[in-house]
Amino acid sequence: MAEIKVTLTTHPKQKPQDESKLGFGTIFTDHMFLMDYEEGKGWYDPRVVPYGDFSMDPAAVVFHYGQAIFEGTKCYRREDGGLQLFRPEANIARMCNSAARMCMPELDKELALAGLKKLVEIDGDWVPHQEGTSLYIRPTMIATDAKLGVHASQHYLFYIILSPVGAYYAEGLKPVGIYVEDKYVRAVRGGVGFTKCAGNYAASILAGEIAEKKGYAQVLWLDGVEQKYVEEVGSMNMMFAYGNKIVTPALNGSILPGITRDSVLTIAKQLGYEVEEKRLAIADIFADAKSGKLTEAFGTGTAAVISPVGELCMDDEKLTIGDGNIGPVAQKLYDTLTGIQYGKLPDENGWVTKL
Ligand SMILES: *Cc1c(COP(=O)(O)O)cnc(C)c1O
Repeated sequence: MAEIKVTLTTHPKQKPQDESKLGFGTIFTDHMFLMDYEEGKGWYDPRVVPYGDFSMDPAAVVFHYGQAIFEGTKCYRREDGGLQLFRPEANIARMCNSAARMCMPELDKELALAGLKKLVEIDGDWVPHQEGTSLYIRPTMIATDAKLGVHASQHYLFYIILSPVGAYYAEGLKPVGIYVEDKYVRAVRGGVGFTKCAGNYAASILAGEIAEKKGYAQVLWLDGVEQKYVEEVGSMNMMFAYGNKIVTPALNGSILPGITRDSVLTIAKQLGYEVEEKRLAIADIFADAKSGKLTEAFGTGTAAVISPVGELCMDDEKLTIGDGNIGPVAQKLYDTLTGIQYGKLPDENGWVTKL
């Protein structure tokens, strides 16, 4: 494996003083990891350098045709002060799946993971200490050829930046309201829904802004063909509890295969819940919530871990789920998963990498 060259900053930044005000993704650490790709040569020049601007040709393919993919994972600080990552190899593997669909090069997985670990170790003092906080890790790949023809680029840049982030739930796990989007769609059959490509998020912003104006935290996307079936929410997968049974949309190519989704389903089975992955009609969700069969709804994702949903709104019809507080299934899954991530519970699935 190529050696990772390290150039440390001579101007370390002041770290945030008040960890209760960290928010999400606005503060960046002292360093970043970079490596370059050229067709025929592969990945080369892996390096950790001071965090800073890139210089790029205005004709770079990424700016015009959006060959850009990213990932999101976190580093957690244990009670003993040590640091640990949660399933980072799953993020690297998913990034390779995104890359294949976007005609971008496969990562050297070992080198990408080594770069991620090295960067986090160098900026380890940036991992915050307060309960619920973490260091968000953002691997990214962009196409850098300066060419306006619509073709796959032959040069790419892979980089990783780090951002200390606050506890998602400053006031505990309060359920959020979600707007069921029945005009716009996020992804279609045969499209790029299963990838974390930048364009998916550009296409989602309008619906998100409209939902926000109506007072909803996020958008629930329906399938792009019939607009009848639940896909996912913003940057989270959706799950529904019917008592001790957890039901979630099956992965169908247009849903993003969340690592939190996979972890939650695994843990749920280990905790003795029944788990079912299937096609879920939104009409059935509304009917089951009204009849009381559906007891909880929640999203799963790296940023929020578990986000209980207290209200769904579709066509101005408002549906309340549960009693406005987090339900027992969501709470148990949240406690178990965060327990493993922060090293308070044993890691029986081999998900944790200690640094
Ligand atoms: C990242 C993401 C998720 C959640 O994936 P995790 O690996 O659990 O963080 C779900 N849906 C979309 C659209 C996403 O971008």
